[in-house]
Amino acid sequence: MVIHLIPTKNENKNSYFFFFLFFCLVIALFLGALTATKASSGHTAHRGSYHLATPTPFADSVKKKTDSFNVSDDPLLVLVNKKNKLPKNYSITLKKLKNGKQVAKIMYRDLRNMWFNCEASHPGYSITVVSGYRTSAKQQTLLRYEIIKNESVGMNDNLAKKDALRSVAPAYYSEHETGLCVDIAASDYLQLNRKQENTPENQWIRRHCAKYGFILRYPKKKEKITGYMYEPWHFRYVGKKAAQAITNQHLSLEEYLGICKTK
Ligand SMILES: [Zn+2]
Repeated sequence: MVIHLIPTKNENKNSYFFFFLFFCLVIALFLGALTATKASSGHTAHRGSYHLATPTPFADSVKKKTDSFNVSDDPLLVLVNKKNKLPKNYSITLKKLKNGKQVAKIMYRDLRNMWFNCEASHPGYSITVVSGYRTSAKQQTLLRYEIIKNESVGMNDNLAKKDALRSVAPAYYSEHETGLCVDIAASDYLQLNRKQENTPENQWIRRHCAKYGFILRYPKKKEKITGYMYEPWHFRYVGKKAAQAITNQHLSLEEYLGICKTK
């Protein structure tokens, strides 16, 4: 077997040919790589723009969903608290109770049933709806009254207002403006304070309200989430399905709606 260490003329030609082929291959590979990079960067750009573009339509859709969710998809779950204002286009049909208080018509039937069954379950039980729907003007008056009350006991303007806001929401930030909540008291103890929870009527309502579509809106240990101290008298109508889910899982409305991240 002969090994040619020095290329012959033919071999030289072949070498040029192979070198040319190799050169073409390199060019082809280079062009291919360039195209791939462009395509890839184009894809990245697309993905990038997709990622960048996503939040806008997504946020819009969420916002729209939240807005419409509040006022039209499920009006029973409208969220009004210290951070969430009453929606601008919010409207509710009201129904007057015998004592003149008004509530959302949509919850009247369940409220009446809960009321009736509470009083029928034990002789002597009697409940009173102390507060229902409030206009924004009324809410504003309540806050002003609370500030004046604080000033009358010697608080300066700032402190009086700050303290008043702890217990009374400003206009457009009270759930009472939705018509979907009621302050309920035992008829022989109409005070809306912590002792209300000791009345047998209040205990009955807290135990059974979910069955009628109501939740205890400001429960114990949820003060930081709801923004309100424990109010054993304040019940919010959210519909039976939501009320049972919220009550069984010991949630606040904020948590149920997934708005508050801290459980
Ligand atoms: Zn209330």
